[in-house]
Amino acid sequence: MHKFSIPDIQPDGRALINGKRVAAASGATFASISPINGQHLADIARCDAEDINRAVTVASASYAAQSWSGRSPKERKLVLLKFAQSIRNQAEELALLETLDMGKPIGYAKSSDVAATANCIAWYGEAIDKLYDEIAPTAKSALALIRREPLGVVGAIVPWNYPMIMAAWKIAPALALGNSVVLKPSEKSPLTAMRLGELALEAGLPPGVLNVVPGYGPEAGEPLARHMEVDCIAFTGSTAVGKRIHVMAGESNLKRAWTELGGKSPNIIFADCPDTEAAAKAAIGRLMFNQGESCNAPSRLLVERTIADALKQRLVEFCAEYQPANPLLPETTMGALVDSSQLQRVMGYIHSGSEQGARLLTGGQQALASSGGFYVVPTIFDQVQTQHKIAREEIFGPVLTIMEFATESEAVELANDTIYGLQAGVWTSDINRAIRVSRALRAGTVHVNQYDEDDLTAPFGGFKQSGIGRDKSLHALDKYAELKTTWIGVALEPSSG
Ligand code: NAD
Repeated sequence: MHKFSIPDIQPDGRALINGKRVAAASGATFASISPINGQHLADIARCDAEDINRAVTVASASYAAQSWSGRSPKERKLVLLKFAQSIRNQAEELALLETLDMGKPIGYAKSSDVAATANCIAWYGEAIDKLYDEIAPTAKSALALIRREPLGVVGAIVPWNYPMIMAAWKIAPALALGNSVVLKPSEKSPLTAMRLGELALEAGLPPGVLNVVPGYGPEAGEPLARHMEVDCIAFTGSTAVGKRIHVMAGESNLKRAWTELGGKSPNIIFADCPDTEAAAKAAIGRLMFNQGESCNAPSRLLVERTIADALKQRLVEFCAEYQPANPLLPETTMGALVDSSQLQRVMGYIHSGSEQGARLLTGGQQALASSGGFYVVPTIFDQVQTQHKIAREEIFGPVLTIMEFATESEAVELANDTIYGLQAGVWTSDINRAIRVSRALRAGTVHVNQYDEDDLTAPFGGFKQSGIGRDKSLHALDKYAELKTTWIGVALEPSSG
């Protein structure tokens, strides 16, 4: 019998509009349930079109008043650096909220989620007063100035798996450029987003520039994506909803739509892998991190047949390092899935894997059910066929599928046999093969002989149905800026007299 108790805190579930915490206009709320033990955590404002309209109206007014957009890049930098520091100062509180709300281990919530969020805000703050605009190489008879201008109001819709980081990837570049923002967090994990909004205010962001409006997708997300005064919708979430976001943008005011979507990333291990131990460790570590709820998780392992048996044995052994436990304990490496519907979804895929004829190597069950929370043990299937559902669809849980191959071309063909194209891994000692295969893989990021490297300096996003656009790096700034060309005629001779 496992009884996981959670601290008796009462998080504020109200929206943040125009610098104030407010209830939904309708007064409606919905319950936030902690995945740790199924206990009620907070009542969240169930915002709808009216609240979105309120938030967009104040965001639009703040933009027009130039309370933020009119400040110099250096002034915006100083506020964003202060905002980042206040996130670091509140690391314990934010990590606790994130863990209570979405079930990830608290050690990672602090060392990874809080740290990466603060780093992202600071990075775009630091970047913004070092970014020069352009003068085009025209004839002498004119000067063509090419300037980035903020778009106006950016709507950001984010998922539940890395609530703070996903929000930061949108709001940091958008705010750095001078836009005003309406952020809609996931209904499954909204609590830290509202706290981030408060910390931004305390750091000096003017009221109305960053508004946070929680609610369900169809009730709050859709009015935001369809709003006629929103200039850009920046979305991270599933491919199914991402497709609809582009439709909503097109059917309303043709706002820009950027979508960071799902993945089913292949991880190819050739027999000449320089370090199969490191490959096995990374294959399990990167998949099981965040309970497998990562868009870039290497969820499809492709292994050359001659080393398959030895590798599988190590993969199963490494799973022991990720046994589900109480997420509030600092040593926990695998926490709870975000809610009961995600638990049902993952268990559904596990049943389908067995039914369709894949072989269960390890795991396959729910764990810690008596806690009232939503836990699944690390699970590996081998003998997976390309037509199996578990080979094709994003599971978003701690489930690895293994396929074997005999030749390089077969490996590439299997790897690219997916609608997604977010990330991929290649493990080989042959530099020519590493380059050849990296070029052939249809993915936004390819990892060679590691799967860990990640940094704000490198763009993040996908090919194919993994989305349109890139988060992170200086490239992300282009998503939130218009380019304006100003032509100035130059008289080549002094006017007489
Ligand atoms: P989801 O698409 O169900 O929801 C994402 C967000 O969209 C939520 O805030 C939700 O409320 C909102 N939403 C839902 N329906 C909507 C609608 N009709 N109109 C407007 N908004 C709507 O995705 P999820 O389950 O929260 O997140 C998991 C997905 O996110 C996975 O597919 C994962 O791969 C993807 N993801 C991608 C990245 C990336 O960078 N590519 C990063 C993290 C997660």
